[in-house]
Amino acid sequence: MSFNRRDFLKLMGGTAAAFTFPSVLLQGCKKALEKAADRTAVIWLQGQSCSGCSVSLLNKIEPNIATVITEFISLNFHQTVMGGTGDAAISVLEDAVEKNRKDFVLILEGSIPTKSAEYCTIGEVNGRRVGVSEWVTKLSANAKAIVAVGTCATYGGVPAAEPRDGSGNPTGAVSLSQFVKGKTVLNIPGCPPHPDWIVGTLLHVLLKGMPERDEYNRPLLYYGKTVHEQCERLSDYKAGRFAKHWGDEGCLYNLGCLGMDSCCDIPVRKWVGGNNSCTGCGGGCIGCTEDVFPDYGKRGIFKHLTAQRAKFIKPEHRVPVYNLRNGGVING
Ligand code: SF4
Ligand code: SF4
Repeated sequence: MSFNRRDFLKLMGGTAAAFTFPSVLLQGCKKALEKAADRTAVIWLQGQSCSGCSVSLLNKIEPNIATVITEFISLNFHQTVMGGTGDAAISVLEDAVEKNRKDFVLILEGSIPTKSAEYCTIGEVNGRRVGVSEWVTKLSANAKAIVAVGTCATYGGVPAAEPRDGSGNPTGAVSLSQFVKGKTVLNIPGCPPHPDWIVGTLLHVLLKGMPERDEYNRPLLYYGKTVHEQCERLSDYKAGRFAKHWGDEGCLYNLGCLGMDSCCDIPVRKWVGGNNSCTGCGGGCIGCTEDVFPDYGKRGIFKHLTAQRAKFIKPEHRVPVYNLRNGGVING
């Protein structure tokens, strides 16, 4: 197989060189080239984000991320980790737009500014900076699937938070589904989302079509149960053993754990190759997969949401439980 310069530059902007680890290049390149035609193209854009979702993706352990990008998908564009830069990288996006390509999955990490495109730009075309909003508008028109990775892309998240002075979000940050109104956006929230959720959802879309989803368009496979009902400390909760201070044994409810109101499978899936979970390590759940994160009605992180099950807690262990959405106290 031989390449002309343009093909090579495209390749450098794409999968085989995307992850700049030499071993990935050496092991994955040949296989990647052989299978390039078979694998589904993925274009991953980053809007207003901290890159944490990408960092989480790189922590994919089984199958590892090198296998995913060399055997399952063709990660054509990813602005943080791709090897290509400048025109070589941006030509991947231009090419998809100019050729009206319909054979790729569009992924967005981060939110989209609506007050000015200048607040978040990705590359230049003919000397003009191009906003993430413009790329999303053009690429979402033809994408075979549109996926929001992370809480910022799903709900707006940290970049869409409200300043305490009530002046409104300075960039007008919105989620992907708010921006591409009328299109189905598959949401994979989390700050960050677990790498299994990202890759598993993507593979489901590629191999079996859209997964079953909840009212927030999250795959039920990963978000179908609350943290609380799968929690390692559930037996403590049921027995009335509550931690009074950080580091104590027992259920973390009185310290502000939001597991009753948050959906994800981290207590059983766990982070970093199965090492520990948010509740297991004693940090508690901060509700990072929910639409109210991180503002919580301006109450701060460790304040309860709706906590429907709070009525089962013994009175001596009870703390005021707030309804985040209307500010009322549920159990006084
Ligand atoms: S309140 Fe939090 S720590 Fe307690 S059982 Fe529920 S999820 Fe676990
Ligand atoms: S357990 Fe809570 S804080 Fe941890 S990932 Fe799930 S929703 Fe987020």
